[in-house]
Amino acid sequence: MRILACHGCDLLIRLSDESGVVSLCPRCGSVLQRSRRTGIDRPLAFALCGLVLFAIALTNPFLAMKRGGGVQETTLPTGIIELWKQRLCGLGSLVFLTCALIPLVQLTGLLYILAPLRLHMAALAKLVAESFDPRLIWDVIEEDS
Ligand SMILES: [Zn+2]
Repeated sequence: MRILACHGCDLLIRLSDESGVVSLCPRCGSVLQRSRRTGIDRPLAFALCGLVLFAIALTNPFLAMKRGGGVQETTLPTGIIELWKQRLCGLGSLVFLTCALIPLVQLTGLLYILAPLRLHMAALAKLVAESFDPRLIWDVIEEDS
C-alpha cells in the first residue's frame, strides 16, 4: 500500500496495489493512479499486428522506378529474386535473412509462445519458451500466472 498526494488538492491518499484499477481522489476526483498492466494481451496484439504488417510489407511495392514510358515496381520478394538473378547472392541472402526470414521467425515464434499463454495452456508455453531464450520469456510467464 502506498501513500500519494493528490496533484489536484494535495489530499494524502492510500493507494491499493491492485492491478487494473483506476484510483480517483475522493475530494476532487482527479485520477491518481491508472494501472497499465494488461498481461499477455498487449504483446499478443503487437505480435498479431506485426504479422499483418509484415504480410502487407511483403506484398506491396516499396520501390518504383520510371524508365522510358513505364513504371517498374519492386516488392521485397521480387527484389531478393532480382539480386539473385544479378549474381549478388550474398547480398540477396542477407536481405532475405534480415528482411524476411528472421522477422517472420520472430513474429511466429512470439505467437507460438503467447497464444498458449493467452489460452491458459501454460505448460505448453513453458515448453516452447525453453526452446527460445528463457531469460526473455520467463518474466512474461510469471507475470501471467
Ligand atoms: Zn484531489
